[in-house]
Amino acid sequence: MQDFLQQTLSGEAPQRQSGDTPYLRWQWLDHGIFQLDPIDEPLQALVLSAGIHGNETAPVEILNGIIGALLRGEMALRHRVLAILGNPAALRAGKRYLRYDVNRLFGGRWQQIEDCDEARRARRLEQAIESFWLQGCEREQPRWHLDLHTAIRGSWHTRFGVLPLNPQPWPDAFIHWLTAAGLEALVFHTMPSGTFTHLSCATFNAASCTLELGKALLFGANDLTQFAAVQQALAALLSGEPLPATQQTPRRYRVVQQITRLSERFELYIDAETHNFAAFPQGALLAEDGETRYVVQQTREYVLFPNPAVALGLRAGLMLAEESAQTEALLR
Ligand SMILES: [Zn+2]
Repeated sequence: MQDFLQQTLSGEAPQRQSGDTPYLRWQWLDHGIFQLDPIDEPLQALVLSAGIHGNETAPVEILNGIIGALLRGEMALRHRVLAILGNPAALRAGKRYLRYDVNRLFGGRWQQIEDCDEARRARRLEQAIESFWLQGCEREQPRWHLDLHTAIRGSWHTRFGVLPLNPQPWPDAFIHWLTAAGLEALVFHTMPSGTFTHLSCATFNAASCTLELGKALLFGANDLTQFAAVQQALAALLSGEPLPATQQTPRRYRVVQQITRLSERFELYIDAETHNFAAFPQGALLAEDGETRYVVQQTREYVLFPNPAVALGLRAGLMLAEESAQTEALLR
């Protein structure tokens, strides 16, 4: 198979579906689903996904570049890897999604919508990661899932990660990798959700993170230099080389409120141009939904992913508190 991305965009199965290099065996499993097994005993099991949103092209190009280097035998591989291009139909169309946002359908939520391509895709991806994790379970390998995205809007932190609700402490090595990947902020979610990374963490006990790596542009129009840190950190992780030196410690935020569009009367008082991590003072009215009012509770809250146009029942935004600021307030 010459190119994972071109193969996926073509919608055709490759003529050759498995092969090897001096370092690894590869296997095409399905459209946009591809497994790599190192010849040596793997150190851990890693799911790398991109293109869950079809217009978020830079991470797709990064992942494809790394897979290409591995397939050409230019890079060593120390881990079992499942590489996923999440929504091939939306990638072809250059759209975030066609009918349903796949990243809201995991954890079986696809069963609550009509039968369509995106419901089937979410189901197929759930099956793929389940069988991948279960293959390695007799060896107790650490499991990581990195889901690569770019944000729709501007952001006060260009690159950041959202870590799903996790009752366990996060492994130090995982936080260290996210820091080496150049993330400026880490957001710790405190509620369950229908994202791919929540499924990996909640159901399969994987350390997982949704990485937001900058702004979405068209294929070929991406300035890949701004993605250099994550690209280098991924290459180092896969080949077992030392991670690049960390530039800064990411700021830490915790989700304190979710704004949900529950009815047709829903109104979001945060305009469409608002950047991610824009601050709001205590008492500010953020949204109203009939009798329900969303008001800033903490001294300061920061908005993430505000979106007034979401479908009924879905998230119209998250409100965050900065962890260090809270700790400071407690000490004072
Ligand atoms: Zn996305």
